[in-house]
Amino acid sequence: MDFNDTAAEASFRNEVRAWLAANAAPRVGAEDKFGDGLDHAAYLAAAKEWQARKAAAGYAAIPWPREMGGLGGTPAQQIIYAQEEARFLVPSLVFEVSLGTALPTVAMWGTDEQKQRFLAPALKGEDIWCQMFSEPAAGSDLGNVRTRAVRDGDDGGDDWLLTGQKVWTSGAHFADYGIVLARTDWDKPKSKGLTMFIMDMKAPGVEVRPIRQATNDAHFNEVFMNEVRIPDTMRLGAEDQGWKIMIGTLMQERFSLGEQFGGDLYNRLIALAKQVRWGGRPAIQNDNVRAGIVDCYLRQFGVELIVKRGMSAISRGESPGPEMAAVKLVGARAFQTGGALAVELGGAEGLIAAQDLGQQWALPQTLWLSGAGARIAGGTDQIQKNTIAERILGLPGEIRTDRNVPFRDLESG
Ligand SMILES: Cc1cc2nc3c(=O)[nH]c(=O)nc-3n(C[C@H](O)[C@H](O)[C@H](O)COP(=O)(O)OP(=O)(O)OC[C@H]3O[C@@H](n4cnc5c(N)ncnc54)[C@H](O)[C@@H]3O)c2cc1C
Repeated sequence: MDFNDTAAEASFRNEVRAWLAANAAPRVGAEDKFGDGLDHAAYLAAAKEWQARKAAAGYAAIPWPREMGGLGGTPAQQIIYAQEEARFLVPSLVFEVSLGTALPTVAMWGTDEQKQRFLAPALKGEDIWCQMFSEPAAGSDLGNVRTRAVRDGDDGGDDWLLTGQKVWTSGAHFADYGIVLARTDWDKPKSKGLTMFIMDMKAPGVEVRPIRQATNDAHFNEVFMNEVRIPDTMRLGAEDQGWKIMIGTLMQERFSLGEQFGGDLYNRLIALAKQVRWGGRPAIQNDNVRAGIVDCYLRQFGVELIVKRGMSAISRGESPGPEMAAVKLVGARAFQTGGALAVELGGAEGLIAAQDLGQQWALPQTLWLSGAGARIAGGTDQIQKNTIAERILGLPGEIRTDRNVPFRDLESG
């Protein structure tokens, strides 16, 4: 296995580096982050402006064909771009769902009219998208989705009316459109009667309620739909084909999430442990602290190697395998345990006033607080372990007794 760039990849990396250097400020300290002091509206505007600039240079969706607004490049080039961009101060967490899952789903399953209408504006940063799959009673098993989509009128009109509730919808409070999974046939088994739609988030009947998190951010939301009218032209794929489309979206999500779990938290921990004194000596000299840092390093190094392995597969034109499940499983745990060590190093202040002590303290605390969510988002630890058990270790699959039962006959509540 060769983890080095090919000659073509190295040349692309140089090209990207030069473009980034001309268009963004480099990240000097590990703690630097884009947008300090910007309020939410100003941050959003800056993110849209950056996205437009990337689109103009062809870097908004590198592997996509040029007619769809991409560069006609390779998935490996997309990863190289992401690696290089991480060295610069640019906005983040605004277009991740749009580019990581929603738009690839529209590109894959959309009609020509849908692609024409939605892809280019979203790549240019004009529209933001969210993904509405999870519900209060449907998360790990999306076969339990109960949001109802019915044809308008007895004779089956050309519109659909959607009623139900989604939850944990990242970015719904600033999204313009979303892909939404709804049940269209209650007499078919759980995975068979689902259909995917494109929903205008500003349509009458849509109510978005942000959920405030322990970090004080409100990153995700509840979305209530009360007879939201969706024209049949906004159906994504065939009726009752939603399960297949959703599986494809989740495969995209796992890989795009995987890229976020590397990093150098261990370096930050080393710096903090040198700065803090415990019992009259630098905390770095404490055995438990050193063991905690080594643990974090090993987890993050493991993640880096698996991501490189996935990238190497992509570079050869293959798909990354089920081992990508381990990236999130190990990487999110590294955030949580490494962040906990930083909080412990900070003592009482580390817990209460980390935000006031500067980025070197605030960031690990944020990782600690969001680590639990990272272990759930995009498939929980247990679901990743099931994937590893079944698809890597070849252990028997879960016993499922509800596979062929009509959805309306399944117990609920
Ligand atoms: C930060 C964050 C962002 C998110 N963003 C979005 C978004 O944008 N759009 C969206 O649709 N959803 C989003 N989600 C929801 C996320 O996909 C679900 O929370 C996740 O799939 C788990 O579903 P659940 O919360 O319903 O838990 P459940 O599925 O109810 O699971 C509860 C517990 O049971 C365990 N469990 C369930 N099934 C099994 C099994 N078969 N074997 C072993 N254990 C099992 C789980 O591991 C978990 O510990 C987000 C979640 C988070 C935390």
